[in-house]
Amino acid sequence: MKKREVIVLGGGIAGLSAAIYLGRAQRDTVVVDSGHSMAKWEPRVENYLGFPEGVDGNDLLKFGREQAKRHGVEFVSDEIQGARGEGEGFRLTGKNGHYDCRSLLLATGIYHIPPEIPGVRECLGHSMFFCKDCDGFRVRGQAIAIVGANNETVEYALGMLHYSPCVMVATNGERITWDDEHGRWLKEYELPVYFTRITDCLRDGCQVTGLTFADGTEVKIDNIFTTRGDIFHTEIAEELGARIDRDGQIEIDHCMRTSVPRLYAAGCVTPANCQMIIAAGQGAAAAQAINRDLFEESLATHGLRRFREEQLKEEKTEPDERRAGASAASKK
Ligand SMILES: Cc1cc2nc3c(=O)[nH]c(=O)nc-3n(C[C@H](O)[C@H](O)[C@H](O)COP(=O)(O)OP(=O)(O)OC[C@H]3O[C@@H](n4cnc5c(N)ncnc54)[C@H](O)[C@@H]3O)c2cc1C
Repeated sequence: MKKREVIVLGGGIAGLSAAIYLGRAQRDTVVVDSGHSMAKWEPRVENYLGFPEGVDGNDLLKFGREQAKRHGVEFVSDEIQGARGEGEGFRLTGKNGHYDCRSLLLATGIYHIPPEIPGVRECLGHSMFFCKDCDGFRVRGQAIAIVGANNETVEYALGMLHYSPCVMVATNGERITWDDEHGRWLKEYELPVYFTRITDCLRDGCQVTGLTFADGTEVKIDNIFTTRGDIFHTEIAEELGARIDRDGQIEIDHCMRTSVPRLYAAGCVTPANCQMIIAAGQGAAAAQAINRDLFEESLATHGLRRFREEQLKEEKTEPDERRAGASAASKK
């Protein structure tokens, strides 16, 4: 494949938003994607602007892809396994081939780690959630279990009280790491805590109906939220020498530039709060920065001059004039 101006690695929400901007900026852009966007897990996105009835995450990806293609962006299905700087740009190596570019946007996302409870995966996005900003509203008034054993678990449970009076914590037998203050809050706010290992997630299709514990207790609940943590897909960023912060996210400036020239990052793989609309906004901001940087480079290297010379040679470059006797040439 020929060297492209821009490769967007990751065709999820951030990558697609960037691709639309880059296509419309007339940048020769390819999106390389392995097809595992987290948006696929959400059958009804209710907090994305412009969809009053909600939108299936799969549809959002489909619409974004179609929109980017309409603006000339190419898509390649591949999983990138390695990368290196090459000349003024990068070379990516995937399972199916090599890809070269001048600027690279990493929009590789993260992976939310689901709890290790039999039967829970089938309920992902339906009644098993990771994010109260995304899904707290939809579980209003229902019975909710927060699975985890750290400070975040306790704060999550307390935050969920705005949505429901019936919130419990289940540590799933994990070692407790919440501190004394968080432990006191659990008592003060009278939140039930189950310390035993969970043996089963009872469900009706994708709908959680209860949890069974190792001591035989069965608790009726409608939803599970978990705070087990995330895996950030930063392997390529690290290989290219980009700085990673203490939480494992790619460090970026306000224009989504990483610490490596020509390398940008957007979406959940950065310190952004992991929300679709934020990922889309960051993708757009990254694309604008890439476009601006390529433009400035073309001025510095006279690339734009050469482009203009071609235009002057081969294309009509003067607007038609109606004024009698004032030809374009006579104005020069
Ligand atoms: C169950 C669930 C429900 C959610 N609900 C909501 C919601 O209601 N509202 C909301 O705002 N957010 C929600 N989210 C979060 C939302 O999905 C993310 O914020 C959003 O998808 C982040 O976009 P992104 O582009 O950063 O990453 P993603 O959309 O995850 O895209 C990353 C892409 O990069 C690709 N990729 C990664 N590494 C490579 C590689 N090496 N080679 C090639 N491709 C690669 C992946 O295959 C993937 O397609 C939910 C998440 C989950 C898990």
